[in-house]
Amino acid sequence: ATGLMAGKRGLIMGLANNRSIAWGIAKQLHAQGAELAFSYQGEALKRRVEPLAAEVGSDFLVECDVSDEAAMDETFRQIKDKWGSIDFVVHAIGFSNKEELEGRYIETSRDNFALTMDISVYSFTAVAKRAEPLMNPGGALLTLTYYGAVKYVPNYNVMGVAKAALEASVRYLAVDLGKKGIRVNGISAGAIKTLAASGISGLRDMLHWQEANSALRKNVSIDDVGGAATYLLSDLAGGVTGEIHYVDAGFNVVGMKLLDDNST
Ligand code: NAD
Repeated sequence: ATGLMAGKRGLIMGLANNRSIAWGIAKQLHAQGAELAFSYQGEALKRRVEPLAAEVGSDFLVECDVSDEAAMDETFRQIKDKWGSIDFVVHAIGFSNKEELEGRYIETSRDNFALTMDISVYSFTAVAKRAEPLMNPGGALLTLTYYGAVKYVPNYNVMGVAKAALEASVRYLAVDLGKKGIRVNGISAGAIKTLAASGISGLRDMLHWQEANSALRKNVSIDDVGGAATYLLSDLAGGVTGEIHYVDAGFNVVGMKLLDDNST
């Protein structure tokens, strides 16, 4: 293979279908010569993930529910058996009960708070812990976050609190793994209509607001995220770690509703 990622092998976690952010990332990594493995949440998703993996030249699939410690161990055992080492892991996983992604944050239940933190935050640390012994120097980990971590976004609720913790995890993991030359970063993606995002009440309004009020006056695509992800996972980003990199068409730099007149 040729390209930016030639000779690099990595695991993509969180592919559900061809609208997944993980798919946008996988396509770009493949185009740049990376060899890919995929983990998927449950047997039901296998049917969707298998043909997509084949499209990017992979038949290395592992079932892994990240709330299951044994499944996590098994995933990295299989990577070790098959590859011996690994160069990167993409963590594109999040979950919260839909009923709590609307209305007031204050109503969050203890159970869903714990579940959301477990799946959306702890799992990244659990992945890092298992990837560390398999990673070559120059290795990289990447997770996906959202602006609702740093500002109030209607209906994002407990997921925003979880993403704030995930972003903090990126910084702590970056220092833990920095000694070994392993980099850890997050991409803060603009809202994109995916399966997970469809669980957020008022997604349509979020997309319209973002399109009208971002610097580029557009919504981002999974391919936009894939491009930035490939850079962060490649040696081009050898000096970049602990960062949250916004891929949001410049939405986060705008402080007020854009006045759509000739002055702007
Ligand atoms: P998606 O539904 O395509 O992907 C979410 C994935 O999480 C699915 O593959 C699902 O199987 C997986 N998952 C959930 N619970 C799991 C578990 N217990 N074990 C293993 N896997 C599990 O949606 P997406 O939007 O591509 O989400 C990917 C990541 O991007 C998430 O972290 C999400 O919060 C983040 N993100 C999404 C947006 C957006 O607007 N779509 C914006 C910023 C960040």
